[in-house]
Amino acid sequence: MKFQPKASHFINGVYVEDTNGAPIDVIYPATGEIIARLHSATPDIVDQALTRAKNAQAEWAAMSGTERGRILRRASDIMRDRNRALSILETHDTGKPLQETLVADATSGADALEYFGGLAASLTGEHIPLGGGDFVYTIREALGVCVGIGAWNYPTQIACWKGAPALACGNTMVFKPSETTPLSALQVAEILIEAGAPKGVYNVIQGYGDVGASLVTDPRVAKVSLTGSVPTGRKVYAAAADGMKHVTMELGGKSPMIVFDDADIENAVSGAILGNFYSSGQVCSNGTRVFVQKGVKEAFLKRLSERLATAKIGDPLDEDVNFGPMVSENQLNIALSYVEKGKAEGARLVFGGERMDGDGFYMQPTVFADVTDDMAIAREEIFGPVMSVLDFDTEEEVLARANDTEFGLAAGVFTNNLTRAHRIVAGFEAGTCYINTYNLAPVEAPFGGSKMSGVGRENSKLAINHFSEMKTVYVSMNDVEAPY
Ligand code: NDP
Repeated sequence: MKFQPKASHFINGVYVEDTNGAPIDVIYPATGEIIARLHSATPDIVDQALTRAKNAQAEWAAMSGTERGRILRRASDIMRDRNRALSILETHDTGKPLQETLVADATSGADALEYFGGLAASLTGEHIPLGGGDFVYTIREALGVCVGIGAWNYPTQIACWKGAPALACGNTMVFKPSETTPLSALQVAEILIEAGAPKGVYNVIQGYGDVGASLVTDPRVAKVSLTGSVPTGRKVYAAAADGMKHVTMELGGKSPMIVFDDADIENAVSGAILGNFYSSGQVCSNGTRVFVQKGVKEAFLKRLSERLATAKIGDPLDEDVNFGPMVSENQLNIALSYVEKGKAEGARLVFGGERMDGDGFYMQPTVFADVTDDMAIAREEIFGPVMSVLDFDTEEEVLARANDTEFGLAAGVFTNNLTRAHRIVAGFEAGTCYINTYNLAPVEAPFGGSKMSGVGRENSKLAINHFSEMKTVYVSMNDVEAPY
């Protein structure tokens, strides 16, 4: 098979297999071809990974931040050197066009390794002077063994966004990719070893939800970072709470994007395209509820349709192609079922809506107009290329409607009115907001959701606080006063 790794799991610096685990077929979404066959982790594999991660942690944490950082930065360089090969693998794993994977996956993972590698040497506690000469100092400590659980849309990026800050802080990690896209995290693990990471510092095991669940409940685990859907997040958060574990939850969304009539329409259309159709719409922060002020609605829809007609849909390995298949037949069917719901609910289909011929999991980019707030296509996360366009009249009205959702991952506004832009983002109930652009997530900026979309933040200096904790040391310079 074309992309068969040496074995399913990577534990303690080597590939490990246990064929007693349930089979996992890796399917190339563009053709339906099986490109690798792996096995889900058995309880023995889970135990091996956690034991090795636990054994490796003290030594890793005892290294200086400079040394840990150097290893992460070396791993970043290796990833960049191998970007093309890693991108080809990512395209096979996910179906995303090579045009995208070349710039958004291994490179984003490399950014995280470089950024957190750079921070590792300057992670410190602080000195807090008190009265009478006493003082407190704090020691920033690693949490221990961290578990990362990934979704299938950005497998390399997620493996690094979780691994890089965890390792920078002196933790070790057991990462479980989605069983739909299990290949690229193994490459991340290999590269870290090549870069000099001690064995056991970053381990990858495969598996379905049950494997994730067994990791989350293991007493050896100090922290769980999940990227996934809200229902899974609820389960994982509850299970982690039982063991009082730290969590980061990066979950789903149904984010609003507001286009005022004074906006640059060409830019707003670009934002709507990026925020709905990049990665065939399989992006958590997508702005899938596009509120367009009535005065520009038809002009917006016309330009959107004209530009969507020029999308190049096809073989994701062709670098001219900019719209690929969906990750799986299952995900395709979910998205198509929402197209039927949209039609049945009375929304106006203005573009696409059809499955495309062939064995791959392709559907057309799809736009509904005249969508109302109560329709399922406006309320539920679809995680596919289905955009809902809703009309609005006033600023006050649109902000209330934009926030009327259980989710709070992202939100965007297109307007040339400076004060209105800032007023709107101040009112958004969302973790990541955009003014006159959409869906950029540089490693320097915090990323994450509010409300049901998550807990904690990834990336930026804030991620450090989610992978370390402070020990407080009170130092007395005086005699101890006791009441009796
Ligand atoms: P799922 O929630 O189905 O799965 C996420 C991961 O959790 C998978 O690895 C899954 O394994 C695992 N899992 C499932 N059940 C459990 C459990 N009980 N305990 C522990 N782990 C479990 O999400 P998808 O993979 O379908 O990804 C799509 C979702 O991810 C969307 O809702 C999307 O919005 C969200 N997402 C959020 C992002 C963010 O940063 N906020 C970014 C990208 C996606 P398995 O797949 O084997 O079942």
